[in-house]
Amino acid sequence: MLPVVMQNLSKRFPTARGELAAVQEVTLTVEGGELFFLLGPSGCGKTTLLRMLAGFIPPSSGRIFFGQRDVTLLPPEKRESAMVFQNYALWPHMTVSGNVGFGLKVRKLPRPGRQQIVREMLQTVRISDKATARPMELSGGQQQRVALARALAVRPPCLLLDEPLSNLDAALRAAMRWEIRRIVKGAGTTAIYVTHDQAEALAIADRIAVMNQGRIVQVGSGRELYENPASRFVAEFLGQANFLPGQLAGAADQDGFYQVRTQLGPMTGHGPAGLEGRSVTCCIRPESLRLMEQDAPGGVNRLTARLVEWTHLGDSARFRLVLEGGLEWIGAVMPARASGPTDRQVGLKVDPRDVAVLPAE
Ligand code: ADP
Ligand code: MG
Repeated sequence: MLPVVMQNLSKRFPTARGELAAVQEVTLTVEGGELFFLLGPSGCGKTTLLRMLAGFIPPSSGRIFFGQRDVTLLPPEKRESAMVFQNYALWPHMTVSGNVGFGLKVRKLPRPGRQQIVREMLQTVRISDKATARPMELSGGQQQRVALARALAVRPPCLLLDEPLSNLDAALRAAMRWEIRRIVKGAGTTAIYVTHDQAEALAIADRIAVMNQGRIVQVGSGRELYENPASRFVAEFLGQANFLPGQLAGAADQDGFYQVRTQLGPMTGHGPAGLEGRSVTCCIRPESLRLMEQDAPGGVNRLTARLVEWTHLGDSARFRLVLEGGLEWIGAVMPARASGPTDRQVGLKVDPRDVAVLPAE
């Protein structure tokens, strides 16, 4: 399976006022067979990076390797990649089969072999019954599958996907992401998947690179990024988070826990080495806040707050808190536990393992 290596990859676009650095010094190795996500807000450079990998635009500097092969300056058709575009870009005048078989025809594969592969691909994406339909007769989800089948039909060692689910409604989006993982893993292809949707990335990624303003700011599994974000940006981009600024009292103890001086008193949390003496932010996920009576016994990371609101979201319930100094936090519990009057003082507790200490930005 094909590893994809990016070395110091940058793209600058000329603008009326000089240059825009869309992608800056990206160095990254995607392992062969990996389902790898590029995740970041709109405009952070995801599509630009993907288009450089596909060969649609040349980098301003840096190199791209597919396996041992330097493909930096190769045109798209000489690379071992296929791309699924955000708007699917199906050919409207061709049938579903025609679309899926097109790449094979271009590669001059004889008709019988071509038909065989098209049949298999349609089965894989579960759309065989629409083989003779035209794209305009299909729903968004069906078009998305055809686009995927078309890209996979040429058996690309590297599949590039640009927000492939963004035009679908929520239920179909959730179902299709598992289909994509199943298909990609079944084909043994290396896949690089671009999205701004953190839920999509957390659900199916092997690893995620979070991007901001053209740069990669952290790489890891979804769980690593969620539990140990390296910055407030990453913490806020992957899920909800509560923050509490403070100062580090000293070095970490032998178990790696720091004592943080905050406006709410001392807090204990975990963080990377080398934060001694720095301004930091404690990051606490909503589901880590344990709600209790105001006068319940204390201990480490025991706080009080004003509970101001409950919100039911179906699979969870959220509560809004106002803490001393006007800090606003959000907590989460199972819906059945969402009860009790609002606008009252409550107690809170957080396990030190659920307090991530981040350098202040
Ligand atoms: P994303 O896919 O993460 O939303 P893009 O890669 O499309 O972001 O864009 C990154 C930045 O580069 C944006 O500021 C965008 O306006 C700019 N950009 C993208 N393509 C071009 C182009 N062809 N010419 C000039 N600027 C561009
Ligand atoms: Mg984009």
